[in-house]
Amino acid sequence: MSRGPCCKPVACRKRDSELLLRLDNEAQLNNLAVWRQDILLSWSTTAAFADQIPASADCVASCVVDHFSFNILLNNKSMLRIGIDLGGTKIELLALDGQGNELLRRRRPTPQGEYQATVAVIGEMVEAAESELAQRGSVGVGIPGSESTVGQRIKNANSTCLNGRNLRLDLEQRLQRSIRLANDANCMALSEAVDGAGQGAEVVFGVILGTGVGGGIVVRQRVLTGINRIAGEWGHNPLPRGDEEILPPARCYCGRHGCVESWLSGPGLSGDHWRHNGETLPATVIAERAAAGDASCDQSLRRYERRLAKALAGVINILDPQVIVLAGGLSNIARLYQTVPRYWADEVFSDVVHTRLRQSAHGDSSGVRGAAWLWNEDSGTKE
Ligand SMILES: [Zn+2]
Repeated sequence: MSRGPCCKPVACRKRDSELLLRLDNEAQLNNLAVWRQDILLSWSTTAAFADQIPASADCVASCVVDHFSFNILLNNKSMLRIGIDLGGTKIELLALDGQGNELLRRRRPTPQGEYQATVAVIGEMVEAAESELAQRGSVGVGIPGSESTVGQRIKNANSTCLNGRNLRLDLEQRLQRSIRLANDANCMALSEAVDGAGQGAEVVFGVILGTGVGGGIVVRQRVLTGINRIAGEWGHNPLPRGDEEILPPARCYCGRHGCVESWLSGPGLSGDHWRHNGETLPATVIAERAAAGDASCDQSLRRYERRLAKALAGVINILDPQVIVLAGGLSNIARLYQTVPRYWADEVFSDVVHTRLRQSAHGDSSGVRGAAWLWNEDSGTKE
């Protein structure tokens, strides 16, 4: 945690929610930083800094400078949270106030294959947003990969220029504050657990069903990352083979055969339909034709639903979540929410299954919202 460069308190102590701060000279008011736990706010101001205190405040810090007493009020609930969704084609920024209301949203194309330019664009977007909102915020970043436990370098990112880079460190240096990074599926699950389809649930399993398959676990509004930082990554587990399977499992890009992802991604559904019918169709078209009464597409979708139920039953048996939230392109197939729970009833090791299957409430925005919520005092990461 870096403190403001000019803030050198001579005395500082915490009392419940209060931070008592004494500065050694008045000059430091030119760049006063006040922090609480790992949250950093700063004001660049002189004697008039009291005017810039947030209107609603519940955390009091006081400092005494040359016998003048200053009260500094902080309120996490009114704090600006900036989320960044770093995707392969676009970088999205969303600024939220403490209640989760959207203040500002911006998008820029991702510099293709250029790591330094990517860091620069994120820095520019954050600074522009803070300038526009006249407030400094926390920054959380959702990435299409994860941080290695060795050297905190990015691994498994399909934006390959990120792999092997210490993105968190580079962004912290660029933006001069602590940054939180999380896998994009974890961000989605967090967003839905805080104020989406999993709101109020103690345990939420979030699933992205798109060109790939990802998963994330949120417990009491905190992302569960795990000792290897792979908690919830079920996409490359082998899918249990059902009696109805007549063809051998497809080979996955990871080198294994029959991974959950190779069955349940959009290309997985397309590939299964092709192998049974010799017809190449995108997953969305298979779903549309099934809804219109096409028998072969209906059968392909039914196989997909049974496989999804089997894969999720394995998660339920271990994690027993209240809510499973689906996001990604295939989450738009409306009938999944009726058929899959019907099928998983045969697979889960319980007489009654109370787990609910729901579509993400925030859709494509869920990732960037979750990135912002990484700095929720009640959420964030849980190792
Ligand atoms: Zn695989």
